[in-house]
Amino acid sequence: ATAQIGVTGLAVMGRNLARNLARHGFTVAVHNRSPGRTRGLLAEHGDEGTFVPSESMADFVATLERPRAVIVMVKAGAPTDAVIDELVPLLEAGDIVVDCGNAHFTDTIRREEALRGHGLHFVGTGVSGGEEGALHGPSIMPGGSDESYRKLGPIFEKIAAQVDGVPCCRHIGPDGAGHFVKMVHNGIEYADMQLIAEAYDLLRAGLSAGPAELAKIFRRWNDGELESFLIEITADVLAHTDAATGRPFVDVVLDQAEQKGTGRWTVQSALDLGVPITGIAEATFARSLSGHADQRAAARRAFPDAGGNWQVDDRETFVEDVRRALLASKIVAYAQGFDHIRAGSREYDWGVDLGGTATIWRGGCIIRARFLDRIRQAYDTEPELPTLLVAPWFAEQVSAGVPAWRRVVADAARAGVPTPAFSSSLAYFDALRAQRLPAALIQGLRDNFGAHTYRRVDRDGSFHTRWAADRAEEAA
Ligand code: NDP
Repeated sequence: ATAQIGVTGLAVMGRNLARNLARHGFTVAVHNRSPGRTRGLLAEHGDEGTFVPSESMADFVATLERPRAVIVMVKAGAPTDAVIDELVPLLEAGDIVVDCGNAHFTDTIRREEALRGHGLHFVGTGVSGGEEGALHGPSIMPGGSDESYRKLGPIFEKIAAQVDGVPCCRHIGPDGAGHFVKMVHNGIEYADMQLIAEAYDLLRAGLSAGPAELAKIFRRWNDGELESFLIEITADVLAHTDAATGRPFVDVVLDQAEQKGTGRWTVQSALDLGVPITGIAEATFARSLSGHADQRAAARRAFPDAGGNWQVDDRETFVEDVRRALLASKIVAYAQGFDHIRAGSREYDWGVDLGGTATIWRGGCIIRARFLDRIRQAYDTEPELPTLLVAPWFAEQVSAGVPAWRRVVADAARAGVPTPAFSSSLAYFDALRAQRLPAALIQGLRDNFGAHTYRRVDRDGSFHTRWAADRAEEAA
């Protein structure tokens, strides 16, 4: 037994993770259900480090030092269970199974419990950064036991992205915590992308400018508070020309956004936990809407003239307004995402450190951004922060952006440009800061039709008004 860690599942992600480990000097056992992938890895990259290939799971396990650490990087769902079932009888108490696939956190909770019954550690680990990240340094979000992290931490922290000398990896919490946090990361990624797409759409309509010109605006924005990987690649995509037609690339791509499901999982979980993650929800629904081609065609035919014309007089002010509105909406989306993590952590008793989570998203992952350092500071300064919106730097940005935010959303509504995420983020902000919400009327209606009772502003207790009888109030 010579390998310090093993990887089974050598498609794009597993293969690159194994190479990353080997390049950092670890001896890596490698295995894949179809041995062709294992042979391919050795043939193409065998010189990058020390790989110990095996064609059977039993041989693979036999090459690992104890306690064994096996990374499973296969298709999420049933394939992960199939691989775990094959592994478990070959392992011994104290060994560690690491699932780096995109598992749903409730599957991870179930698997952790089952493997604990065998004396094994099961570590559901979120990995972000795509195939490039896996090779050059991803953001790594491991769940599982403290004991398993003592073995895995030094390995993962070495292969993760590094920002200011700090690895983008930390132990998130027990059982499903890592996969939960990865799920919310992806949800935030949905919101971030939708907001960027709306900003692009607004600029395009308001300025009547082409993608190449807009690419320059995004490139400029990437020098300020919005600096992030997603803004950077937005400029890149907008500047790209389709080779076949010579047209802007964005104009030849079908405008129907696809999804693999992590946005949906995030929204489903938020509904269960009662956390209003409106930005992520709008982003997820916006992708769904884009895919309803038949409905869109029918609506286009039925309402050909419903949109207004957009004449932006002061182009520079408009661009700055959109930038401010984008930043304010983005702050709302992140505030909601971190609320979601806090709610999940409380529900499942994970003890997730919010500042620490922001720290490991600063590099390696898709939402990596300068901004995340501010979030880290905010939660490190005040772990019980009621909402990110009220942390000093964020409150300042939002306050400064409110007039622009309102102008952009109102102008877009008048011009018939859809801004679901911009508008809902502004509505969330206004609802959160309102002195009184019409929720009082909702309570009145619920009591009227269903005797659901209400509480009063001036006295403790629950009350019911006898609506159908004498309209007197009684304590419930
Ligand atoms: P895929 O999700 O395409 O999965 C292919 C791999 O799974 C192959 O190694 C395949 O083996 C193996 N596999 C499938 N079914 C079984 C089975 N029943 N038993 C054993 N092995 C099986 O690979 P990716 O590399 O794209 O992703 C791996 C995991 O990482 C997934 O869970 C994915 O969601 C997650 N992930 C992916 C990211 C990405 O950017 N692609 C980013 C972050 C996470 P074989 O070669 O024999 O078919």
